[in-house]
Amino acid sequence: MIHRMYLDGRFVEAGNGQTRDIYNPAKGEVMAQVPEATAADVEHAIAAARREFDEGKWPNLSAAQRGHILLKIASAIRAHKDELARLETMNVGKPLYEAEGDIDDAADTFEYYGGLANKITGEVNPMAPKALDFTIKEPIGVCGQIIPWNFPLLMAAWKIAPALAAGCTLILKPAEQTPLTALKLAEILHEINELPKGVVNIVTGDGLTAGATLVKSHDVDKIAFTGSTEVGKWILKTAAETNLKKVTLELGGKSPNIFFADADFEMAIAGAVFGIFLNQGEVCSAGSRILVEKSIHAKLVEMMVEKAKQIRLGDGLDPNTKMGPLVTAEHRERVEGYIKMGKDSGAKLATGGQRPAALKQGYFIEPTIFDHVDPNSRLAQEEVFGPVVAVIPFAHEAEAIKLANHTPYGLAAGVWTKDFSKAMRLVRKIRAGMIWVNHYHPTPLEGPWGGFKQSGLGRELGPYGIENYLQPKQVYVNLQQKPITWY
Ligand code: NAP
Ligand code: MG
Repeated sequence: MIHRMYLDGRFVEAGNGQTRDIYNPAKGEVMAQVPEATAADVEHAIAAARREFDEGKWPNLSAAQRGHILLKIASAIRAHKDELARLETMNVGKPLYEAEGDIDDAADTFEYYGGLANKITGEVNPMAPKALDFTIKEPIGVCGQIIPWNFPLLMAAWKIAPALAAGCTLILKPAEQTPLTALKLAEILHEINELPKGVVNIVTGDGLTAGATLVKSHDVDKIAFTGSTEVGKWILKTAAETNLKKVTLELGGKSPNIFFADADFEMAIAGAVFGIFLNQGEVCSAGSRILVEKSIHAKLVEMMVEKAKQIRLGDGLDPNTKMGPLVTAEHRERVEGYIKMGKDSGAKLATGGQRPAALKQGYFIEPTIFDHVDPNSRLAQEEVFGPVVAVIPFAHEAEAIKLANHTPYGLAAGVWTKDFSKAMRLVRKIRAGMIWVNHYHPTPLEGPWGGFKQSGLGRELGPYGIENYLQPKQVYVNLQQKPITWY
């Protein structure tokens, strides 16, 4: 199927007619083609978003009106849930029930920001009676939004919903590998017919052309980016060098999932396995380092191996599938590079590490557990972004904390213990944006999401998420009827 991208309210091909093949990673086959945007196409989208922000009616609607439209978008996403979930599974590989959860979360995100839109208020600042001083919050402007391939529609929703609620206009660039649900969302928005044309533009293409054009533009006021730390740093630097556009970054992680001997053992096993293998391990906040107290180390690894071996790999559309393929052939090779590195580093391969013999077509890799990993090795320090976990034993609480903080990242962490005081001590000491106690992965959209250290800048979700799309303006009104007497 040949798709078109969404530019200034129209579905169009790339200016030069070029397309890109989109794959189904479970089959290793092309499933669709999308336009490969040129820089000129992206400039066109930016011009449309600029015009709508500067002269159009979207930023001038009441917040309640915008909120109402977001609620309609949420309902429309729910009405298209089955189609969106199947498309996501076919394009990303994830099991269908996981994709269904993503679509629910995407709809919930529009609903949340639809509800929040008219609860954002300004402030009256304390002042002597001679003046009135107040702060209003204005939309930040034209937003370039760049997202990765692991949760395509959900990441699009996290970006688009708060921007629209705030009154911004935007250009979204999905990941080159996974643009299909974002394009379906464009169709849904077009059908609803409530957004003025040019308010939401969705350009398909690669980072170096389409993404970089957004970052280098003088007409873009803000970049919201989710992706790798390396690209995030380039974006921050380039934004500073052009027009000092505002930047928020949601980047990588190497998150510790920490197990104390006093944890509920059944919960611990399940949490360790779920923390790493959800979504094929292609999760920025994956619990990719298991830190485990020595007295339960051997037993935990043994039980994790047993569980990992039971995870059924297959096409995500098969209801029996518990883990799908990796997103592309290249990404699988990258993950295999880390598996080789793990073996070469002297870590013990406890299970996995192979392409499953029965699944030759797609980009599958077995759930993989490395034990006794050197905390300084690349396997313990770098983001694999696949179903590969590094187990590192620790002797006591202080060592667990030290190991937990011993990477350049600080996105998330899990702490498993029945000792509440100990859990709270770790919460205080771990430098990460999200900490789960006796759980892993819940991402309530009511709270902030984002990273410490090299895991990011700014926060998404919750009330923090909309603040990124607003800027305060102070207004001072003189109430005295007399001239300034300075000179
Ligand atoms: P990536 O290579 O950084 O790509 C992310 C997005 O940036 C893609 O759309 C990509 O375009 C685009 N891009 C690449 N180079 C660019 C440039 N020079 N200018 C503008 N845009 C550019 O990351 P990825 O490999 O797709 O995704 C995995 C990474 O995302 C991991 O590090 C993961 O931790 C992170 N992630 C973080 C979160 C979070 O919330 N913190 C969530 C999910 C993922 P292409 O289409 O050409 O690739
Ligand atoms: Mg990429």
